[in-house]
Amino acid sequence: MSNPFRALPSVDALASRLENNDAPRPRLIAACRTALDQARDMIRLGEGPPSEAELVAAVARILAEDDRLSLRSVINATGVIVHTNLGRAPLSTEAQQAMIDVARGYSNLEYDLAAGRRGKRDTHVEDLIVEITGAEGALVVNNNAAAVYLALSALAVGREVIISRGQLVEIGGGFRVPDVMRQSNAHLVEVGTTNRTRLADYANAITEQTVALMRIHSSNFRMIGFTEETSLDAMVTLAHERDLIVLDDLGSGTLLDTGLYGLDHEPTVFESITAGADVITFSGDKLLGGPQAGLLVGRRDLIEQLKRHPLARALRPDKLCLAGLAMTLKHYRDGEAIEKIPVWQMITMPLAQLEARARVWTGRLGGKVRDATSTVGGGSLPGNTLPTRAVALQVDAPDQFVARLRQADPPVIGRIQDDLLWLDPRTVLPNQDETLLAIVESALA
Ligand SMILES: *Cc1c(COP(=O)(O)O)cnc(C)c1O
Repeated sequence: MSNPFRALPSVDALASRLENNDAPRPRLIAACRTALDQARDMIRLGEGPPSEAELVAAVARILAEDDRLSLRSVINATGVIVHTNLGRAPLSTEAQQAMIDVARGYSNLEYDLAAGRRGKRDTHVEDLIVEITGAEGALVVNNNAAAVYLALSALAVGREVIISRGQLVEIGGGFRVPDVMRQSNAHLVEVGTTNRTRLADYANAITEQTVALMRIHSSNFRMIGFTEETSLDAMVTLAHERDLIVLDDLGSGTLLDTGLYGLDHEPTVFESITAGADVITFSGDKLLGGPQAGLLVGRRDLIEQLKRHPLARALRPDKLCLAGLAMTLKHYRDGEAIEKIPVWQMITMPLAQLEARARVWTGRLGGKVRDATSTVGGGSLPGNTLPTRAVALQVDAPDQFVARLRQADPPVIGRIQDDLLWLDPRTVLPNQDETLLAIVESALA
């Protein structure tokens, strides 16, 4: 038999077959090289040489893949609502529109329209936060990690901050509270034990150098058994008696009570404010359901001090974030958060509605509608699940099947369990149902 490698065309010959493709020449040549390399790999694995038509199709596929941005929209059928790997919170239609409006042209980002002179970017969102939460002051930065870093850098540099050993957490993505404190040059004073920290532990650790007591919500893990945490109220009373401040990192920080929707109670921003915490930090894109941001609320003089710190400038959010966040907050102010914000729509989606969608899906795809569980994710409410009705599909080679779904346009992300492919309607936006079905159908074909 003749050498199968000899059957392959040269790069130039293959490129000449694709002359009416409008890719620039260097990209076309690179795509032809890649296609020929792949063909050689296949020949080495014992396959016959591809036909010219197959090679041309391969080049076209490589060019099309090249044309797509690396960061793109995917369909989340995992049932994990605030999925950190999948971009956390999807935004409300109105929040998306607000971002587009500001992206399209100029805006009054730092322009006071009434006075006709320079204004402040802070005001657009902070007045809303103050109105909704009742806090004295508010500030927005890039994310909650930045919020914690700024608070410690501006308020505790060179001083001692007392924190319970049970709260020295790693949030994920390498964000460890002790590391952040070191970076900010605040001195960390650990008190109590992993499972129990009493008020006396904090009181006994206070020195001339102490500036704050800090509470960190252990968002992503739960301790059970012989445990004791000091209440925020008690920490605040002690701190204020001794002229210290309380920093409260809520993590997700919700404005609505998750306890009303079949989940455990997640500490709310109002509860921290009512307890008297001096600076409270939380994320914009976890249970708040907005764009990536870090929100700081609390005592007016402290928030002003944070705003004046040089880091505040380095950590400031951009106009798109502010536009999306303002609209998300407006949903809360207007009492329409549950109806408008996708994270809350998903949390509160009735089982009957999930069941109805799952039935439509099995009508098209086969498989069975089965009881399953969705989770909140994003390091919130660990161990908490929401009952859902998911589609369980039997597929050949499940690992290869989900890989094929990930290669689709848009990619579909499902879950394999017990050798079945599971698709949970809860996290699939209702307007994505048809796209998801078409993609899974074609992968099954
Ligand atoms: C998620 C979280 C953070 C980090 O927030 P990002 O918005 O992801 O930067 C900090 N602290 C706690 C307790 C968290 O749960």
